[in-house]
Amino acid sequence: MSNPSPVLNIQNVSKSYGKVEALKDTSFDVNPGEIFALLGPNGAGKTTLIGCITGLILRFTGNIKVAGYDVKTHSKITRQLVGLVPQELNFDPFFNVEQVLYYQSGFFNVPPRAEKIEKILRDFGLWEKRKANTRALSGGMKRRLMICKALMHDPVLLFLDEPTAGVDVELREELWKYVLKLKERGVTIFLTTHYLEEAEQLADRIAFIDKGKVLMVEKREDLLNHFERRWNRITLKGPLSRELETSLQSEGVSVEDEQTIIINSSKALAAGEVLEIQTILDEIKASGNHIVQIDGGRNSLESIFREILQETPVDPKS
Ligand code: ATP
Repeated sequence: MSNPSPVLNIQNVSKSYGKVEALKDTSFDVNPGEIFALLGPNGAGKTTLIGCITGLILRFTGNIKVAGYDVKTHSKITRQLVGLVPQELNFDPFFNVEQVLYYQSGFFNVPPRAEKIEKILRDFGLWEKRKANTRALSGGMKRRLMICKALMHDPVLLFLDEPTAGVDVELREELWKYVLKLKERGVTIFLTTHYLEEAEQLADRIAFIDKGKVLMVEKREDLLNHFERRWNRITLKGPLSRELETSLQSEGVSVEDEQTIIINSSKALAAGEVLEIQTILDEIKASGNHIVQIDGGRNSLESIFREILQETPVDPKS
């Protein structure tokens, strides 16, 4: 089956602010219905890219199409097709919740139908607060109202620029539920974040950007499988004998302290090189020592990101 036409097509986009190259020859597609996460540290170029797509930044080189329409030559159409939830809260503090959505409709020339406002507010758990002044909303409600605003003109592609920056864990998880609900309804979501856990929880595909350069675009599962490292920490009852320590180290086992060892196994290694944990356990028992505890896990997207950044040679011109 051939791939569906991308809802967003970015080709060779570059943008400079004076000597700062905020985006360098960026190209990738976003498919309809997916959650696409763009990950990168502060200043990587995420907001600049969103600005180019959504029409906030007009001067850049390269081409961007939304649902097949060029953002420079068909900006009226493409602005109608995208919704943007920016990092900063941007509603009038003197309006109530309902009024915010009513006036938002006007910006996009959409008739402010009462039923539509009611539906959106109910979907996002804000109906009871419709008469509340926006200043009286909690942080989580304000963030949800921002998403409601961006949905008033039924965009096909919704941008969430660091939607959970600076919010606590509980609120972050609450917002994730709403984002997943939107995906269920077929809205394509383009998310920027530097919370790697956020991308791991939500995204179908993940792109890494650093210093204006997109380093990698992968399906989340492929990314985790490709770079996956498993580890086990084994706590021993007594101290390691000198001979056992030497033997384990020669097998690639790390000694954390005299009673703790760490085994790192890697799918990236050739099959024959993967350490078999059982042989190590047998070796420990044969030495007369006992195992008190075995912990284990796999590395996080955080460490994968660090690994990707390290593997990418620094461009001497930048
Ligand atoms: P953050 O996660 O901190 O929001 P970001 O990945 O969104 O960062 P951008 O805001 O796109 O990064 O910035 C990319 C680079 O471009 C940075 O070096 C930034 O200082 C620079 N930059 C962005 N906007 C401007 C501007 N209007 N004028 C000059 N430089 C800018």
